Amino acid sequence: PVRTRIAPSPTGFLHLGTARTALYSWAYARHFGGEFILRIEDTDVARSTQDSVDQILASMRWLGLAHDEGPVYQMQRLDRYQQVIDEMIAAGTAYRCYASPEELDAMREAQKARGEKTRYDGRWRPAPGKVLPAVPAGVQPVVRFANPVDGTVTWDDLVKGPISINNQEIDDLIIQRPDGVPTYNFAVVVDDFDMRISHVFRGDEHINNTPWQINIWRAIAADTPHPAYGHCPIILGDDGLKLSKRRGAVSVTAYDEGGYLPEAMLNYLARLGWSHGDDELFSREQMVQWFDGSHLAKSPAQWDPAKLAWVNAQYLKAADDTRLAGLVAAQLARRGIAADAADPRLAARCALFKDRCSTTVELADWLAMYHAPVEGSAEERAQHLTDAVRPAVQSLADRLDTADWDKAAIAAAIKATIGEHGLKMPQLAMPVRVLVCGRAQTPSVDAVLALFDKKIVVDRLRSF
Ligand code: GLU
Repeated sequence: PVRTRIAPSPTGFLHLGTARTALYSWAYARHFGGEFILRIEDTDVARSTQDSVDQILASMRWLGLAHDEGPVYQMQRLDRYQQVIDEMIAAGTAYRCYASPEELDAMREAQKARGEKTRYDGRWRPAPGKVLPAVPAGVQPVVRFANPVDGTVTWDDLVKGPISINNQEIDDLIIQRPDGVPTYNFAVVVDDFDMRISHVFRGDEHINNTPWQINIWRAIAADTPHPAYGHCPIILGDDGLKLSKRRGAVSVTAYDEGGYLPEAMLNYLARLGWSHGDDELFSREQMVQWFDGSHLAKSPAQWDPAKLAWVNAQYLKAADDTRLAGLVAAQLARRGIAADAADPRLAARCALFKDRCSTTVELADWLAMYHAPVEGSAEERAQHLTDAVRPAVQSLADRLDTADWDKAAIAAAIKATIGEHGLKMPQLAMPVRVLVCGRAQTPSVDAVLALFDKKIVVDRLRSF
């Protein structure tokens, strides 16, 4: 059965790159009716935090990538790792190394001086007839994996195709630190084995780890095939360098806060490294239907904020207005503006303005005027008024004050006012927009005004 997993380290937020491989892992499992597992790789105790775990879980929930098992925490599995280490030492596939850091530094310096590549020289690796150094007193050893000395490690990468590494290029990796905590490459293998993981999608920064992982896998589970691995290329920023914090937002949370819809993020992330013909917009269900591990891109994709904004705008247009009302209310709350998410007028405002927006942040930019004073001073706004138009604005205010409060009545009041003052529609509509909305351009003015409280409109029209 297909079993995939995502294994973030809780040393920060959920990175976009991890979100993308999580999506691929999730979609692959769903496509084949398998399971998707969440594992928290928290063995870097100094840098792992509960706060980060919470953020990662929240981001996964926001994206709607539900796991079937987990979260499993590596630090809760130390006994199991110790058991495997003990078995490996007994079997001779791992050994204790007592070399001090100073000694290893000296070893590497000597290698460099000879023009050799630096690598652990196997001084503590047992071999028939070899006399090992005397165990120094009071030193906590590390445990190293006895990597095969010859042959090659080969796998058919789901993304990159066949890859082959000569074992002579790989040295004996530390698999357990002196404090007993296992290292990443070892814990991953024990976990992938115990969790019966069949397919691993991850970033290609791990490609150099894979030969070790395959060798360790063979040492502990010779009879079980190792998972299939797919290494996805890194995501590039628009400067062609690896997308990083310095080059814009890289956390999923930032996009949630930035007013993107999770389904738009998923759609965009999916396309960043995978394709289905020319399709740019597709639902989560379509992706599950289509994602079978083929058509994964071999070369890195560039993060394109404009394209993401376009994708988000398409989803915004199609989104349910009641849902948007909730999202906009949350955005407004971040600015200290209270808006009732359940007020049907808020949903109607979303419907009226969402076509002009790429994000719910932009939507909140527009809708703030319904809930809080518009920016700038009344004097500034009054500069848009010519002497000819001032009395017309006043009489419009008076008419509206006594009118019914709906779009048709507002339209009638405007029409009567321009007739009375001999103005053309834009001559009145523009200053009205500026006074009430703080902007010269809006959707149809009667529709915009109808979604205000009447009193606010009348007061703003009289505010100069
Ligand atoms: N903890 C690793 C990471 O966050 C997981 C890599 C893997 O999927 O094996 O990069």
